[in-house]
Amino acid sequence: MHPLIELEGRHCAQNYHPLPVVLVRGDGPYVWDDQGRRYLDMMSAYSAVSHGHAHPRIVNALVEQARTLNIVSRAFHSDRLGEFLARACRLTGQDMALPMNTGAEAVETAMKAARKWAWQVKGVPDGEQEIIACAGNFHGRTIAICGLSTEQQYRAGFGPFPPGLKTVPYGDAAALEAAITPRTAAFLVEPIQGEGGIVIPPAGYLAACAEICRRHDVMLIADEVQTGLGRTGKLLACEHEGVKPDGLVLGKALGGGVLPVSMFLARRELMAVFRPGDHGSTFGGNPLAAAVGLEALQVLEDEDLAGQSASKGAWLLEELHRIDSPLVREVRGRGLFIGIEIDPAQASAREVVLALMARGLLSKETHATVVRLAPPLAIPMELLEWAVAQLRAVLTEGGLRP
Ligand SMILES: *Cc1c(COP(=O)(O)O)cnc(C)c1O
Repeated sequence: MHPLIELEGRHCAQNYHPLPVVLVRGDGPYVWDDQGRRYLDMMSAYSAVSHGHAHPRIVNALVEQARTLNIVSRAFHSDRLGEFLARACRLTGQDMALPMNTGAEAVETAMKAARKWAWQVKGVPDGEQEIIACAGNFHGRTIAICGLSTEQQYRAGFGPFPPGLKTVPYGDAAALEAAITPRTAAFLVEPIQGEGGIVIPPAGYLAACAEICRRHDVMLIADEVQTGLGRTGKLLACEHEGVKPDGLVLGKALGGGVLPVSMFLARRELMAVFRPGDHGSTFGGNPLAAAVGLEALQVLEDEDLAGQSASKGAWLLEELHRIDSPLVREVRGRGLFIGIEIDPAQASAREVVLALMARGLLSKETHATVVRLAPPLAIPMELLEWAVAQLRAVLTEGGLRP
Protein backbone atom coordinates (compact mmCIF):
# COMPACT_ATOMS: atom_id res chain seq x y z
CA MET A 1 0.00 0.00 0.00
CA HIS A 2 1.09 3.61 -0.58
CA PRO A 3 2.97 4.71 2.57
CA LEU A 4 1.07 8.02 2.79
CA ILE A 5 -2.28 6.26 2.50
CA GLU A 6 -1.15 3.86 5.18
CA LEU A 7 -0.01 6.72 7.44
CA GLU A 8 -3.30 8.54 6.97
CA GLY A 9 -5.17 5.34 7.63
CA ARG A 10 -3.38 4.85 10.94
CA HIS A 11 -4.13 8.34 12.27
CA CYS A 12 -7.14 9.73 10.40
CA ALA A 13 -10.65 8.81 11.48
CA GLN A 14 -12.06 6.41 8.94
CA ASN A 15 -15.12 8.55 8.20
CA TYR A 16 -14.47 8.65 4.45
CA HIS A 17 -13.66 6.07 1.80
CA PRO A 18 -11.37 8.00 -0.58
CA LEU A 19 -10.19 6.75 -3.93
CA PRO A 20 -6.61 5.43 -3.66
CA VAL A 21 -4.87 8.47 -5.11
CA VAL A 22 -2.59 10.96 -3.30
CA LEU A 23 -2.98 14.44 -4.78
CA VAL A 24 -0.21 16.98 -4.50
CA ARG A 25 -1.11 19.82 -6.89
CA GLY A 26 -4.02 21.38 -8.74
CA ASP A 27 -4.37 23.86 -11.57
CA GLY A 28 -7.67 24.76 -13.25
CA PRO A 29 -9.48 21.52 -14.16
CA TYR A 30 -6.42 19.34 -13.42
CA VAL A 31 -4.90 17.71 -10.35
CA TRP A 32 -1.65 15.73 -10.10
CA ASP A 33 -0.77 12.80 -7.87
CA ASP A 34 2.55 12.21 -6.15
CA GLN A 35 3.69 10.02 -9.04
CA GLY A 36 3.33 12.97 -11.42
CA ARG A 37 0.19 11.56 -13.03
CA ARG A 38 -2.30 14.17 -14.19
CA TYR A 39 -6.05 13.77 -13.76
CA LEU A 40 -9.06 15.71 -15.00
CA ASP A 41 -11.07 16.62 -11.90
CA MET A 42 -14.72 15.93 -12.68
CA MET A 43 -15.66 16.08 -8.99
CA SER A 44 -14.46 19.55 -7.96
CA ALA A 45 -14.54 18.73 -4.25
CA TYR A 46 -18.33 18.33 -4.26
CA SER A 47 -18.58 21.64 -6.21
CA ALA A 48 -16.35 23.61 -3.82
CA VAL A 49 -13.92 24.00 -6.74
CA SER A 50 -16.36 25.28 -9.36
CA HIS A 51 -13.88 28.07 -10.20
CA GLY A 52 -11.12 25.51 -10.88
CA HIS A 53 -8.06 24.73 -8.78
CA ALA A 54 -5.88 27.65 -7.70
CA HIS A 55 -7.70 30.26 -9.77
CA PRO A 56 -5.03 32.98 -10.20
CA ARG A 57 -7.32 35.89 -9.32
CA ILE A 58 -8.71 34.13 -6.24
CA VAL A 59 -5.26 33.02 -5.09
CA ASN A 60 -4.07 36.61 -5.56
CA ALA A 61 -6.94 37.92 -3.45
CA LEU A 62 -6.08 35.30 -0.81
CA VAL A 63 -2.37 36.17 -0.73
CA GLU A 64 -2.88 39.95 -0.77
CA GLN A 65 -5.40 39.78 2.05
CA ALA A 66 -3.30 37.26 3.99
CA ARG A 67 -0.46 39.78 4.00
CA THR A 68 -2.78 42.51 5.24
CA LEU A 69 -5.37 41.33 7.77
CA ASN A 70 -6.80 37.86 8.31
CA ILE A 71 -8.84 37.23 11.44
CA VAL A 72 -10.34 39.83 13.74
CA SER A 73 -13.57 38.10 14.84
CA ARG A 74 -16.85 39.97 14.75
CA ALA A 75 -15.88 41.77 17.95
CA PHE A 76 -14.71 44.47 15.50
CA HIS A 77 -15.68 45.65 12.04
CA SER A 78 -13.39 45.02 9.11
CA ASP A 79 -13.04 46.86 5.82
CA ARG A 80 -13.82 43.67 3.84
CA LEU A 81 -17.08 42.27 5.17
CA GLY A 82 -19.61 44.87 4.04
CA GLU A 83 -18.62 44.80 0.40
CA PHE A 84 -18.63 40.98 0.30
CA LEU A 85 -22.11 40.66 1.81
CA ALA A 86 -23.47 43.54 -0.30
CA ARG A 87 -22.29 41.75 -3.44
CA ALA A 88 -23.78 38.44 -2.32
CA CYS A 89 -27.11 40.11 -1.52
CA ARG A 90 -27.19 41.98 -4.83
CA LEU A 91 -26.44 38.82 -6.82
CA THR A 92 -29.04 36.70 -5.06
CA GLY A 93 -31.74 39.33 -4.56
CA GLN A 94 -31.66 38.86 -0.78
CA ASP A 95 -31.63 41.69 1.77
CA MET A 96 -29.17 40.56 4.43
CA ALA A 97 -26.59 37.88 5.04
CA LEU A 98 -25.03 36.13 8.03
CA PRO A 99 -21.52 34.85 7.28
CA MET A 100 -20.37 31.43 8.50
CA ASN A 101 -17.67 29.01 7.37
CA THR A 102 -19.07 25.62 6.43
CA GLY A 103 -22.33 24.64 4.78
CA ALA A 104 -23.65 22.82 7.83
CA GLU A 105 -23.16 25.89 10.03
CA ALA A 106 -25.04 28.05 7.56
CA VAL A 107 -27.90 25.51 7.43
CA GLU A 108 -28.01 25.49 11.25
CA THR A 109 -28.11 29.28 11.11
CA ALA A 110 -31.10 29.10 8.75
CA MET A 111 -32.87 26.66 11.08
CA LYS A 112 -32.27 28.90 14.09
CA ALA A 113 -33.51 31.95 12.18
CA ALA A 114 -36.67 30.13 11.10
CA ARG A 115 -37.42 28.81 14.59
CA LYS A 116 -36.92 32.21 16.18
CA TRP A 117 -39.00 33.91 13.50
CA ALA A 118 -41.82 31.42 14.05
CA TRP A 119 -41.74 32.17 17.77
CA GLN A 120 -41.37 35.96 17.58
CA VAL A 121 -43.34 36.82 14.48
CA LYS A 122 -45.69 33.94 13.73
CA GLY A 123 -46.53 33.38 17.41
CA VAL A 124 -45.62 29.69 17.68
CA PRO A 125 -44.80 28.85 21.32
CA ASP A 126 -41.05 28.45 21.80
CA GLY A 127 -40.12 24.77 21.73
CA GLU A 128 -42.98 23.83 19.40
CA GLN A 129 -41.61 25.18 16.11
CA GLU A 130 -41.43 22.66 13.29
CA ILE A 131 -39.10 22.42 10.33
CA ILE A 132 -39.94 20.28 7.33
CA ALA A 133 -37.30 18.85 5.01
CA CYS A 134 -37.33 16.24 2.24
CA ALA A 135 -36.62 12.53 2.21
CA GLY A 136 -33.22 11.94 0.66
CA ASN A 137 -31.94 15.37 1.70
CA PHE A 138 -28.37 16.26 2.52
CA HIS A 139 -27.88 19.42 4.58
CA GLY A 140 -24.71 18.56 6.48
CA ARG A 141 -23.55 16.58 9.48
CA THR A 142 -24.43 18.35 12.72
CA ILE A 143 -26.72 16.53 15.15
CA ALA A 144 -29.76 18.69 14.35
CA ILE A 145 -29.21 18.28 10.62
CA CYS A 146 -28.72 14.52 10.97
CA GLY A 147 -32.07 14.63 12.77
CA LEU A 148 -33.55 15.79 9.44
CA SER A 149 -31.85 13.05 7.45
CA THR A 150 -33.64 9.96 6.19
CA GLU A 151 -30.33 8.20 5.54
CA GLN A 152 -29.99 5.51 8.24
CA GLN A 153 -26.18 5.66 8.20
CA TYR A 154 -26.18 9.39 8.88
CA ARG A 155 -28.35 8.87 11.99
CA ALA A 156 -27.48 5.51 13.49
CA GLY A 157 -25.84 5.91 16.87
CA PHE A 158 -25.98 9.71 16.87
CA GLY A 159 -29.31 10.28 18.58
CA PRO A 160 -31.21 11.66 20.35
CA PHE A 161 -32.12 14.32 17.82
CA PRO A 162 -33.96 17.58 18.49
CA PRO A 163 -37.74 17.46 18.22
CA GLY A 164 -39.75 19.45 15.70
CA LEU A 165 -38.10 17.99 12.60
CA LYS A 166 -39.95 16.06 9.94
CA THR A 167 -39.59 14.98 6.35
CA VAL A 168 -41.87 14.65 3.35
CA PRO A 169 -41.25 12.88 0.03
CA TYR A 170 -39.06 14.94 -2.34
CA GLY A 171 -40.84 16.21 -5.42
CA ASP A 172 -44.33 15.97 -3.90
CA ALA A 173 -45.74 19.45 -3.23
CA ALA A 174 -49.06 18.05 -1.98
CA ALA A 175 -47.18 16.09 0.70
CA LEU A 176 -45.55 19.32 1.84
CA GLU A 177 -48.90 21.06 2.13
CA ALA A 178 -50.35 18.11 4.08
CA ALA A 179 -47.42 18.18 6.52
CA ILE A 180 -47.69 21.90 7.32
CA THR A 181 -49.28 22.76 10.68
CA PRO A 182 -49.80 26.09 12.43
CA ARG A 183 -46.45 25.43 14.13
CA THR A 184 -44.43 25.05 10.93
CA ALA A 185 -41.59 27.55 10.73
CA ALA A 186 -39.84 26.55 7.54
CA PHE A 187 -39.52 24.19 4.63
CA LEU A 188 -35.86 23.44 3.93
CA VAL A 189 -35.17 22.09 0.44
CA GLU A 190 -32.42 21.50 -2.12
CA PRO A 191 -33.61 22.57 -5.61
CA ILE A 192 -31.74 19.49 -6.87
CA GLN A 193 -30.62 16.87 -4.37
CA GLY A 194 -26.85 16.55 -4.73
CA GLU A 195 -25.64 13.95 -2.23
CA GLY A 196 -28.98 12.22 -2.65
CA GLY A 197 -27.80 11.29 -6.15
CA ILE A 198 -28.38 14.32 -8.43
CA VAL A 199 -32.14 13.97 -8.03
CA ILE A 200 -34.14 16.48 -10.08
CA PRO A 201 -37.72 17.02 -8.87
CA PRO A 202 -40.64 17.29 -11.33
CA ALA A 203 -40.91 20.58 -13.22
CA GLY A 204 -42.89 23.12 -11.26
CA TYR A 205 -42.17 21.52 -7.88
CA LEU A 206 -40.19 24.37 -6.37
CA ALA A 207 -42.62 27.00 -7.63
CA ALA A 208 -45.53 25.01 -6.16
CA CYS A 209 -43.70 24.72 -2.83
CA ALA A 210 -43.04 28.47 -2.84
CA GLU A 211 -46.73 29.16 -3.38
CA ILE A 212 -47.74 26.73 -0.59
CA CYS A 213 -45.23 28.27 1.81
CA ARG A 214 -46.48 31.77 1.02
CA ARG A 215 -50.09 30.73 1.62
CA HIS A 216 -49.31 29.10 4.99
CA ASP A 217 -46.84 31.73 6.21
CA VAL A 218 -43.97 29.25 6.18
CA MET A 219 -40.41 30.29 5.33
CA LEU A 220 -39.07 28.67 2.18
CA ILE A 221 -35.36 28.07 2.70
CA ALA A 222 -33.33 26.86 -0.28
CA ASP A 223 -30.13 24.99 0.49
CA GLU A 224 -27.99 25.90 -2.52
CA VAL A 225 -24.69 24.99 -0.89
CA GLN A 226 -24.03 22.61 -3.78
CA THR A 227 -26.42 23.77 -6.54
CA GLY A 228 -25.65 27.47 -6.13
CA LEU A 229 -23.19 29.80 -7.83
CA GLY A 230 -23.54 28.55 -11.37
CA ARG A 231 -23.38 24.80 -10.87
CA THR A 232 -26.73 24.06 -12.54
CA GLY A 233 -26.43 26.64 -15.33
CA LYS A 234 -27.98 29.57 -13.46
CA LEU A 235 -26.51 31.56 -10.62
CA LEU A 236 -29.02 29.81 -8.35
CA ALA A 237 -30.89 26.62 -9.18
CA CYS A 238 -34.07 28.30 -7.81
CA GLU A 239 -33.98 30.60 -10.84
CA HIS A 240 -34.89 27.70 -13.13
CA GLU A 241 -38.39 28.02 -11.67
CA GLY A 242 -38.39 31.75 -11.07
CA VAL A 243 -38.45 31.19 -7.31
CA LYS A 244 -36.95 33.63 -4.84
CA PRO A 245 -36.76 31.84 -1.49
CA ASP A 246 -37.22 33.63 1.84
CA GLY A 247 -33.88 32.26 2.97
CA LEU A 248 -30.91 30.93 1.03
CA VAL A 249 -27.87 28.92 2.09
CA LEU A 250 -24.60 29.20 0.16
CA GLY A 251 -21.27 27.50 0.78
CA LYS A 252 -18.82 25.31 -1.11
CA ALA A 253 -18.00 27.38 -4.26
CA LEU A 254 -18.45 30.60 -2.25
CA GLY A 255 -14.90 30.01 -0.99
CA GLY A 256 -13.53 30.07 -4.54
CA GLY A 257 -11.94 26.67 -4.06
CA VAL A 258 -9.45 27.95 -1.49
CA LEU A 259 -11.25 28.46 1.84
CA PRO A 260 -14.40 27.35 3.63
CA VAL A 261 -16.83 30.28 3.26
CA SER A 262 -20.59 30.00 3.75
CA MET A 263 -23.51 32.24 4.51
CA PHE A 264 -27.18 32.33 5.24
CA LEU A 265 -29.01 35.03 3.27
CA ALA A 266 -32.58 36.10 3.85
CA ARG A 267 -35.14 38.76 3.42
CA ARG A 268 -35.07 41.40 6.10
CA GLU A 269 -38.07 40.12 8.11
CA LEU A 270 -36.41 36.75 8.66
CA MET A 271 -32.88 37.97 9.37
CA ALA A 272 -34.19 40.66 11.71
CA VAL A 273 -34.77 38.05 14.43
CA PHE A 274 -31.05 38.01 15.22
CA ARG A 275 -29.96 40.39 17.97
CA PRO A 276 -26.42 40.86 19.30
CA GLY A 277 -25.43 37.73 21.19
CA ASP A 278 -28.09 35.46 19.65
CA HIS A 279 -25.76 33.58 17.35
CA GLY A 280 -22.21 33.77 16.09
CA SER A 281 -19.02 32.24 14.80
CA THR A 282 -15.44 33.18 15.69
CA PHE A 283 -14.27 32.81 12.11
CA GLY A 284 -17.46 33.65 10.22
CA GLY A 285 -17.02 36.71 8.01
CA ASN A 286 -13.30 37.09 8.69
CA PRO A 287 -11.45 39.49 6.36
CA LEU A 288 -9.54 36.71 4.61
CA ALA A 289 -12.72 34.78 3.84
CA ALA A 290 -14.53 37.98 2.82
CA ALA A 291 -11.77 38.98 0.39
CA VAL A 292 -11.71 35.50 -1.12
CA GLY A 293 -15.50 35.23 -1.29
CA LEU A 294 -15.83 38.64 -2.94
CA GLU A 295 -13.27 37.70 -5.60
CA ALA A 296 -15.01 34.34 -6.10
CA LEU A 297 -18.30 36.15 -6.80
CA GLN A 298 -16.55 38.63 -9.09
CA VAL A 299 -14.88 35.84 -11.09
CA LEU A 300 -18.21 34.06 -11.33
CA GLU A 301 -19.69 37.11 -13.06
CA ASP A 302 -16.64 38.06 -15.15
CA GLU A 303 -16.23 34.55 -16.55
CA ASP A 304 -19.97 33.93 -16.86
CA LEU A 305 -19.49 30.60 -15.10
CA ALA A 306 -23.26 30.03 -14.93
CA GLY A 307 -23.56 30.51 -18.70
CA GLN A 308 -20.61 28.20 -19.30
CA SER A 309 -22.21 25.60 -17.05
CA ALA A 310 -25.51 25.84 -18.95
CA SER A 311 -24.08 25.40 -22.44
CA LYS A 312 -21.38 22.86 -21.62
CA GLY A 313 -23.70 20.92 -19.35
CA ALA A 314 -26.34 20.67 -22.08
CA TRP A 315 -23.71 19.41 -24.51
CA LEU A 316 -22.31 16.88 -22.01
CA LEU A 317 -25.74 15.57 -21.07
CA GLU A 318 -26.60 15.01 -24.74
CA GLU A 319 -23.31 13.18 -25.38
CA LEU A 320 -23.83 10.99 -22.32
CA HIS A 321 -27.35 10.12 -23.45
CA ARG A 322 -25.79 8.85 -26.67
CA ILE A 323 -23.63 6.29 -24.86
CA ASP A 324 -25.40 3.00 -25.30
CA SER A 325 -24.32 0.92 -22.31
CA PRO A 326 -25.92 -1.95 -20.41
CA LEU A 327 -24.39 -0.47 -17.25
CA VAL A 328 -26.32 2.78 -17.46
CA ARG A 329 -29.84 3.02 -16.11
CA GLU A 330 -30.25 6.74 -16.43
CA VAL A 331 -28.31 9.93 -17.06
CA ARG A 332 -29.72 13.08 -15.52
CA GLY A 333 -28.53 16.55 -14.70
CA ARG A 334 -28.75 20.27 -15.16
CA GLY A 335 -25.78 22.37 -16.18
CA LEU A 336 -22.49 20.75 -15.22
CA PHE A 337 -24.20 18.82 -12.44
CA ILE A 338 -24.77 15.35 -13.80
CA GLY A 339 -25.38 11.91 -12.34
CA ILE A 340 -25.02 8.61 -14.15
CA GLU A 341 -27.15 5.93 -12.51
CA ILE A 342 -25.40 2.57 -12.77
CA ASP A 343 -27.41 -0.65 -12.83
CA PRO A 344 -26.28 -2.38 -9.62
CA ALA A 345 -26.82 -5.77 -11.23
CA GLN A 346 -24.04 -4.88 -13.70
CA ALA A 347 -21.51 -2.94 -11.62
CA SER A 348 -21.14 -0.65 -8.64
CA ALA A 349 -20.58 3.05 -9.12
CA ARG A 350 -17.33 2.55 -7.22
CA GLU A 351 -16.03 0.15 -9.88
CA VAL A 352 -16.86 2.71 -12.54
CA VAL A 353 -15.07 5.58 -10.79
CA LEU A 354 -12.01 3.38 -10.19
CA ALA A 355 -11.89 2.47 -13.90
CA LEU A 356 -12.22 6.16 -14.79
CA MET A 357 -9.42 7.01 -12.37
CA ALA A 358 -7.15 4.50 -14.12
CA ARG A 359 -7.82 6.51 -17.29
CA GLY A 360 -7.00 9.84 -15.66
CA LEU A 361 -10.52 11.03 -14.88
CA LEU A 362 -11.50 11.66 -11.25
CA SER A 363 -15.11 11.50 -10.16
CA LYS A 364 -16.84 10.00 -7.15
CA GLU A 365 -19.74 7.72 -6.48
CA THR A 366 -22.65 9.00 -4.42
CA HIS A 367 -24.46 6.18 -2.68
CA ALA A 368 -23.69 2.87 -4.34
CA THR A 369 -25.20 3.53 -7.74
CA VAL A 370 -24.59 7.08 -8.96
CA VAL A 371 -21.44 8.44 -10.63
CA ARG A 372 -21.31 12.18 -10.13
CA LEU A 373 -19.88 14.48 -12.82
CA ALA A 374 -19.35 18.06 -11.68
CA PRO A 375 -16.18 19.52 -13.23
CA PRO A 376 -14.92 23.07 -12.74
CA LEU A 377 -17.32 25.27 -14.70
CA ALA A 378 -14.72 26.81 -17.04
CA ILE A 379 -13.56 23.37 -18.22
CA PRO A 380 -12.49 23.65 -21.89
CA MET A 381 -14.69 21.84 -24.42
CA GLU A 382 -11.87 19.62 -25.64
CA LEU A 383 -11.46 18.25 -22.11
CA LEU A 384 -15.17 17.47 -21.96
CA GLU A 385 -14.83 15.67 -25.29
CA TRP A 386 -11.91 13.69 -23.86
CA ALA A 387 -13.97 12.90 -20.75
CA VAL A 388 -16.84 11.59 -22.86
CA ALA A 389 -14.41 9.28 -24.69
CA GLN A 390 -13.17 7.89 -21.35
CA LEU A 391 -16.71 7.41 -20.08
CA ARG A 392 -17.71 5.67 -23.29
CA ALA A 393 -14.72 3.33 -23.02
CA VAL A 394 -15.50 2.43 -19.41
CA LEU A 395 -19.27 2.14 -19.76
CA THR A 396 -19.32 0.27 -23.02
CA GLU A 397 -19.13 -3.47 -22.67
CA GLY A 398 -15.68 -4.77 -21.74
CA GLY A 399 -14.33 -1.35 -20.80
CA LEU A 400 -14.95 -1.62 -17.07
CA ARG A 401 -12.07 -3.98 -16.29
CA PRO A 402 -9.26 -2.92 -18.63
C1 LIG B 1 -22.13 19.89 1.21
C2 LIG B 1 -23.48 20.33 1.57
C3 LIG B 1 -23.78 20.84 2.83
C4 LIG B 1 -22.78 20.85 3.97
O1 LIG B 1 -21.66 21.61 3.71
P1 LIG B 1 -20.33 21.41 4.62
O2 LIG B 1 -19.45 22.54 4.19
O3 LIG B 1 -19.78 20.06 4.28
O4 LIG B 1 -20.77 21.49 6.04
C5 LIG B 1 -25.05 21.33 3.06
N1 LIG B 1 -26.00 21.28 2.10
C6 LIG B 1 -25.75 20.79 0.88
C7 LIG B 1 -26.83 20.79 -0.14
C8 LIG B 1 -24.49 20.26 0.58
O5 LIG B 1 -24.26 19.73 -0.63
